[in-house]
Amino acid sequence: MTQELILRGGTVVRPGHPLEKLDILVSDGRIAGLLAPGQAVSEGTPVESVEGLHVFPGCIDAHVHFGFTEKITEYETETAYAAQGGITTILGYFLNNEDYADVYQREQGYAQERCRVDYGFHFSTASEQHITGLEGYVKDYGVTSFKYFMNFKGEEGRYLGLDGTDDGYFYDLLAQAARIGKATIVCHTENVEIVNRVRRRVQAEGGETLRDWARAKPAFTEAESCVRAMLFAEHLGARVYFPHISSRLALDEIRKWRQRYGNIHVETCPHYLTHTQDSEQGTLAKANPPLRSQDDREALWEGIADGTIQVVASDHSARRRATKEKPMWLAAQGFPGIAAIVPVLLSEGYHKRGLSLQRIAEVVTSGPADVFDMSPRKGRIEVGSDADFTVVDLNLERVFKPAELGSYSDYSLYENQTLKGWPVRTIVRGVTVMKDGQLTGQPGYGQYLRRSLGDRV
Ligand SMILES: [Zn+2]
Repeated sequence: MTQELILRGGTVVRPGHPLEKLDILVSDGRIAGLLAPGQAVSEGTPVESVEGLHVFPGCIDAHVHFGFTEKITEYETETAYAAQGGITTILGYFLNNEDYADVYQREQGYAQERCRVDYGFHFSTASEQHITGLEGYVKDYGVTSFKYFMNFKGEEGRYLGLDGTDDGYFYDLLAQAARIGKATIVCHTENVEIVNRVRRRVQAEGGETLRDWARAKPAFTEAESCVRAMLFAEHLGARVYFPHISSRLALDEIRKWRQRYGNIHVETCPHYLTHTQDSEQGTLAKANPPLRSQDDREALWEGIADGTIQVVASDHSARRRATKEKPMWLAAQGFPGIAAIVPVLLSEGYHKRGLSLQRIAEVVTSGPADVFDMSPRKGRIEVGSDADFTVVDLNLERVFKPAELGSYSDYSLYENQTLKGWPVRTIVRGVTVMKDGQLTGQPGYGQYLRRSLGDRV
């Protein structure tokens, strides 16, 4: 027996297409047909009305961190938060010195029984073993993207349990990634040698505000690292991805470099699109990279509009408020964000800045799916793709209340803020996992996404 259903009456938002009124036929978790509105289907096919709503491909959050909470439960709580935010697929990072064989088995054990949406992994690289193991990680675990912290020199990464590396390591890592078929190296771009000197001066002056935190990590240190990574990548034929880009300066360098080398991919996060160093949220808004100026914020919107930025993802850390309510230099970095992505893009992008719905769809669906080897299974509304949908009410105004959204974290940068445009239904492989703010799926329903390297140029 095939399981069929039809989503009827919605306006479909597809990257590269005009907005279209289409009914979507789903069969066994995949898209089986795109039909003219009201077209007859076989008798007895369950009809789900999405009249008056917009249907996006299932949205993807390609930047989530695992390991900052009690591990057993976070796969459930954070994927509940994802479902509430209209996210149908997440990609989570592990930070680790050891070989990934044990880590992968352990985390899969936790995740398989708990995830409510589909999920995949990125591995961080810090040891020699990770370079030699790279090819095996792709083949054995279906992981095609690897994080490298350009800032973790010496003891800098110790707080996350990572050994220090240097540009020589980075060079060999990129060369190996290129050799095995252009696996993606996700580069945290920050020149920490400059940051450390500037930070000491800022601290010596008694700086302790969000602005001081930003001052200690100048945009130049992000842009310079991007340039170094792009030159390395071009020289070695490697594929690089810059997560959480936060500054105009970095975007300007990326635009220049793209004209000579194409394998450069760029992400920003919702908080850089909404908040600045002048936010009154203080340490709650401490992140790395830091929130910057209004000019940087607007440059990031421009970067989305002109295609420089291909992915918007959250950099989600499920921390508690208590870890943030400390003096600036001691407070934890990062914050929860998965559920904010879609409402922020709709409220601030579509409603306030006139960004098209298709462009918004691209940065959260086809963009991340293409970069991270999930197309055409994910990120598309096409026959044969997974029946993942984010159904949105563009005019729904809702106050962002963390307690309603299910994360382990107990705060948000958007707390008590009214955002306009919300997901009202999240559908993963044909099954509704969230409807009107209620979770309707089951923990353990989410499937692991094995990825493989496509043919790259
Ligand atoms: Zn991150």
